[in-house]
Amino acid sequence: MENCLKCGNPLEAGADKGRPKAYCSTACRRSAEMEIRRVDQQLAALENNAQAIRLGRWVDLGGGSDAEMIAAEIKRLEARLKMLLSAAVDAT
Ligand SMILES: [Zn+2]
Repeated sequence: MENCLKCGNPLEAGADKGRPKAYCSTACRRSAEMEIRRVDQQLAALENNAQAIRLGRWVDLGGGSDAEMIAAEIKRLEARLKMLLSAAVDAT
C-alpha cells in the first residue's frame, strides 16, 4: 500500500509494527469501517431492487428502476467494498 485507501494521502512506510498500512490515520480507518457498512447496506438495497425488477415485482420506492444503472452501481460498489475489505484483512 502506498496511499491511504480512504483519503489517498501518501503513507509513511514501516511505522506500523511490520504490518502493511492501508490507512494514514485512525480516523481514516474508522471512516473506512463505516464506509464498508454503508456500502454493504447500499449493495443489499440495490440487489433487492435488481431482483424485484427481474421478477417483475418492481415497486418504485425512490431507488430508481433502471436495471442497467442498478447493475453498474452494484459493480462499482462491489469493487469499492472489495478494496476496503482487502485492506481490512491486511491490517488485522
Ligand atoms: Zn487517510
